[in-house]
Amino acid sequence: MKVFCAAERQKIHYPRNFLVSGAQQPNPEVPERVERLLQAATAGGHDIVEPGDHGLAPIAAVHTPEYIRFLTHIHERWARIPGASTEVVPNIHPDRRGVSYPLSAVGQAGYHMADTACPIGPDSWAAIRWSANTAASGAKHVLDGAPAAYALCRPPGHHAFSDLAGGFCYVNNSAVAAAMLRQSHERVAIVDVDLHHGNGTQGIFYRRADVLTLSVHADPIRFYPFFWGHAQERGEGPGLGYNLNLPLPRGSADDAFLGALDKGLESVRAFAPGAIVVALGLDAFEDDPFGGLAVTTEGFGQIARRLAGLGLPTVIVQEGGYLCDALGDNLTSFLAGFEAGHG
Ligand SMILES: [Zn+2]
Repeated sequence: MKVFCAAERQKIHYPRNFLVSGAQQPNPEVPERVERLLQAATAGGHDIVEPGDHGLAPIAAVHTPEYIRFLTHIHERWARIPGASTEVVPNIHPDRRGVSYPLSAVGQAGYHMADTACPIGPDSWAAIRWSANTAASGAKHVLDGAPAAYALCRPPGHHAFSDLAGGFCYVNNSAVAAAMLRQSHERVAIVDVDLHHGNGTQGIFYRRADVLTLSVHADPIRFYPFFWGHAQERGEGPGLGYNLNLPLPRGSADDAFLGALDKGLESVRAFAPGAIVVALGLDAFEDDPFGGLAVTTEGFGQIARRLAGLGLPTVIVQEGGYLCDALGDNLTSFLAGFEAGHG
């Protein structure tokens, strides 16, 4: 399978700020993730390809103009504030219903950032753009006729809404890929198997019937992203019925995960999409530092076989999955399972 990755350009984003229960911790979304995943893909014999530059159009298809302006310029504006931190980190959050758009950098950081886990440093925007280019190149490869592509995106994207960063995510790469696939397919489904609910992806397509969003994840009742990812969130207006959340109890292992996925994939089959995007988080792993679920290395291969069994053109977009000994093995297991399942 072709693997798209702008490794060096994606690695220059190096976020430091991260709060866990109010305490400062190292940010786990580190550049080394790209190295580990790329090593595994290379060792697996996959064809590594540098993505092309697609410009801002694929990003603008799923994000607002003011948010793109914010991401483009906020760091240089922030750096001009006397005494400001080296990274953009919000310290105020509006009630987003009916508020006015602020002019100040501090106000805009609060407006466009859902939490403190998505700091913006001097090189972040360049890396974010190349992560989106990676997804766009994977989607283009599939639009051009390939059965599947793996986009090794970093930073990840599925917590990013149309105008809101959050949870290590800035531009929603899975949404970028889905919007591109829509150019040739009337219906596209996004299947999110990350440990965490894909709240940004859900938000972007919540009122749309042309993109089905399915997410299997740890129950947000006591887990990030808390406010989204519950089973009763089914879409709105024309999108009602086109969003499916399947939360699992903390600690659930392969059987429970695969059972939920099978149930979700019935809905995907009924939707009859022309292509799918897999939002591939590897953080549902039993030894991932987030410790939410207990999927095994072998389990990722099984998940991949189920997804490949749909027999649809597929863009696999990397989401979460943090440093642990088996991070690379989990990707290897997934990609091998996918290729075996695709026949
Ligand atoms: Zn995650």
